[in-house]
Amino acid sequence: MAKPRHVPERRCVACGQRAPKRDLVRIVRTPQGTVHADSTGKSSGRGAYLCRSTDCWDKGVRRGSLERNLQVTISPRDREVLLDYFRQWVASAALVEG
Ligand SMILES: [Zn+2]
Repeated sequence: MAKPRHVPERRCVACGQRAPKRDLVRIVRTPQGTVHADSTGKSSGRGAYLCRSTDCWDKGVRRGSLERNLQVTISPRDREVLLDYFRQWVASAALVEG
């Protein structure tokens, strides 16, 4: 019998659902005050997590869930970069997964 392995869980800041950390995307606020998707999961700074769903990114990036959680104002440029990241990496990866 394999031992049940502990799976680290995190909560999506947009919908509030808990999910295994690797199924979420970490967004990090750097000490410089910029906000970006942390593709390595290792960037230092305050982090927040989003599901791989369009709704959650829309809520998180456009409607302020991330800003509230990270306690930062996301610049329009950073917003664009985040949404680009989602379109390029997250949305497409969700389609090919499985
Ligand atoms: Zn979510």
